[in-house]
Parts: sequence; C-alpha cells; structure tokens
Amino acid sequence: MPPSVFRFAPSPNGYLHLGHAYSALLNFDLARERGGRFLLRMEDIDATRCRTEFESAIQEDLAWLGLTWETPVRRQSEHFALYREAVEKLAGLGLIYPAFESRAEIARLVAQREGEASWPRDPDGAPLYPGVAKSLAPEERDRLIAQGTPYALRLDMAAACELVPDLTWTELGEGPGSEGGTVLARPEAWGDVILARKETPTSYHLSVVVDDALQGVTEVVRGCDLFWSTSVHLLLQRLLGMPPPLYRHHRLVTDASGQKLSKSTDATALRQLRREGVTPSDIRLLVGMP
Ligand code: GLU
Repeated sequence: MPPSVFRFAPSPNGYLHLGHAYSALLNFDLARERGGRFLLRMEDIDATRCRTEFESAIQEDLAWLGLTWETPVRRQSEHFALYREAVEKLAGLGLIYPAFESRAEIARLVAQREGEASWPRDPDGAPLYPGVAKSLAPEERDRLIAQGTPYALRLDMAAACELVPDLTWTELGEGPGSEGGTVLARPEAWGDVILARKETPTSYHLSVVVDDALQGVTEVVRGCDLFWSTSVHLLLQRLLGMPPPLYRHHRLVTDASGQKLSKSTDATALRQLRREGVTPSDIRLLVGMP
C-alpha cells in the first residue's frame, strides 16, 4: 500500500498559535503512527497579507515543537499557472462566469435584498453572492472585459451541483453535528463561490483542492471551522477528476473564555509562549494531547 500523506497548510499571514500547534502535531503524529509522509504547505495566495518573515517564523516554531517535514515546502504563490489551468477546465464545462461587482456594490446589493426579505448566508455566516453577473448578456460581458473592468471568476453552483449531485465524504473526525462516518456534502449552501479573485488568479477553495490532489494527500486533518468547506472541495474534486482524500476535522483550541484563537493575540502565540519558557511538551499538554 502506498504511504499515507498528511499535510499542515498554514497561511503565512501571522504567527502560529496553540490551535495551529494542535493541528500540526495531530498531522505529524498520525503520519508517524502510520509510517506516512508529513508535508508543510504555505497557503500564501493573498499577497497583501502573507509575508516571508511569517513563513520563516512558522518553520522556526514548528521545528521548535519537534516537527520535521519534507522539503522543498510548497508555496502556493509559485503555482498560479496550475490553478489557472484548473479554472480553465471548469470554464470548459461551462461552469464559470465573470462577476464585475466591487465589494461595496456587493454590500449594497446584500443590504437591498435583506431589506426585502432575509438573504441566505453561507456556513461561515457571509451573505451569498447577490449579483446577477451570471445572466449578463455576452456582449455586455465582452464590453466590460474590453474596457478593463476587473472581475472575479465565480462558480455557477446550481449548474455544478446538477452535474455532480449527491456527493458524500468520509469523515474520520468530529465536525459539527457529525460523529464521523459518511457526510452528505452541501456545496449549494455556499452559493456561487469565487474561484479566482480580482487580485489573484485563484482562491482558497481552488488551490487547496488542486494542491491536495497534486501532493497526493490521503488524509486532510484540519480544524472543524473548515468542516463545511469540505462540501465545496468535494464538488471541485469531482469536477476536476481528482481523487477525494479522507477528512478528519478536529476540535478547535479555545481561550479561557471559550473563544477561537486569533493570530493577532500574543498570549497564545507559540513564539510568545516559547519566550516565557514554555516547553514543547508543555504545549502538548496545553492543547490536550497526551
Ligand atoms: N490555509 C488554511 C488556514 O490557514 C488551512 C487550509 C486547510 O487546512 O485546508 O486556515
């Protein structure tokens, strides 16, 4: 049997905190137990927020925790051409359309729709895309593109779900409302997600799916805040002909008041704890690992 492949995939837009330590350690321990591989991937598609000094700090913190990983470390910002190819494949299936609205216009449209009736929100609580770009006349689209109006590329979710209905995934973890087992995906709950942003030719959903497949990841171990994102990932995998990994969503580490940890809080940042004399084995205890 080929070895199991695990990955820890932080975004280098801040320092790692205890929650990241838990996720990275879980991945690393599982890889060890199974005689598998452990990869580190930098999800650095957001050029405005990601910085190389955070990348170095992340690697320093992980090494301090006692983790080792294969090199070279994959950096998503170096693979935009690959993500573009995936978008083109989806475009070839007639599932992509350009959407020209600015953030402000989208906010205005949502406010307007909410004034009329309640407007649906995605599993993260963000309003679904309220625009009508999907039904723009082709001449109007061409005119806006020719004018140089920036646009995002969105997935026609209804058409995509029609093409690959009834998707399920194998959950080994403890996502919301799930004790593990087979979960029915609900990609439609996300509406017409962005696959390529105006400022970068990809998105989180697209690049995570392409990279997990390309790196041969067999088990995705990540926080249960990403549980329902898996629905979109399943859909993209099927559309792109990529094999689905198994999923293991884990509990989130919270602070004393039960809140999810944030990259902007110093108190739970690994480098801060390290400075205070906390040891790697203390970190394991702090995150509830034996
Ligand atoms: N890059 C994502 C984050 O830092 C994690 C993506 C994933 O594990 O699928 O939250």
